[in-house]
Amino acid sequence: MDSLFSVADQIVLVSGGTRGIGFAIAAGFVQRGARVILTGRTQAAAEESAARLAPGAKHAPRGLACDVTKMPQVEELARRVLADCSHVDTLVNVAGVNRRKPSLAVSEDDYDFILNTNLKGAFFLAKEVGRAMCERGSGCQINIASLNTDRPLKNVLPYAMSKAAIAHMTRGMAVEWGPCGVRVNGIAPGFILTDLTKKLWSDPTMHSWGLANTPQRRLGVPEDMVGAAIFLASPAAAFITGQTLFIDGGFTAGWSWPIPESGGR
Ligand code: NDP
Repeated sequence: MDSLFSVADQIVLVSGGTRGIGFAIAAGFVQRGARVILTGRTQAAAEESAARLAPGAKHAPRGLACDVTKMPQVEELARRVLADCSHVDTLVNVAGVNRRKPSLAVSEDDYDFILNTNLKGAFFLAKEVGRAMCERGSGCQINIASLNTDRPLKNVLPYAMSKAAIAHMTRGMAVEWGPCGVRVNGIAPGFILTDLTKKLWSDPTMHSWGLANTPQRRLGVPEDMVGAAIFLASPAAAFITGQTLFIDGGFTAGWSWPIPESGGR
């Protein structure tokens, strides 16, 4: 094991770790010897997901309920984890939702559902855990952004707004907490097949467009996010803060266009 990239024995809290990207990241930390606490909205789902990660784990993973839209639950999660584990080395702020529709059709309920989860929930969990990290003088936070962070995709505007703000939050907290020894970074996944997106990408037109515009010619899987999360949490990233790393198969690297292979004239 190269200690430069080691997360062994770290205490890692993954919010939204029951499924999809959060579950894959939680699994990645468990497999590398971290002590993982993962959360979802219900105790049953959190415990079930933690149990799936238990076989062979150095430290038994734990599942806790926390709906990040409910501030008392966010505060209680931080309080409980800090009381039980003494500190958190890495917080991975994953919990997120979406409702896809044109802006003219967005209701107040849609707006609140998306922003309260993706942004307010992430902010206050980061704050609650960040306070203890600042007091301790060390810690790492990883927020999950999106391709929508830089430029909005059509018909997902509240989601895009939340993810643009997540990158700003990442930079702002990095600036505030850097002097305390706390690093804050982001991961912006490309098009990743999860419960949140599978139906969308099962549409043949969407699927062909996704492949045509992704230089690596595939959609992503949650496991594609693991390397970046481990890296950002490890000593190898000791001088990296305030950054958002795009893990998108090259989607944001440039434009694919239907120019002939000969280069045309
Ligand atoms: P999934 O729908 O597969 O998983 C969402 C996770 O968030 C679940 O663990 C769910 O737990 C949890 N969650 C949802 N609402 C809440 C809440 N109010 N409180 C606590 N936990 C909650 O989605 P993905 O894995 O695809 O997405 C994960 C993150 O990655 C999101 O932030 C998403 O925006 C982002 N992302 C995803 C991309 C993709 O292509 N899939 C691309 C870019 C970003 P439970 O249901 O058990 O409560």
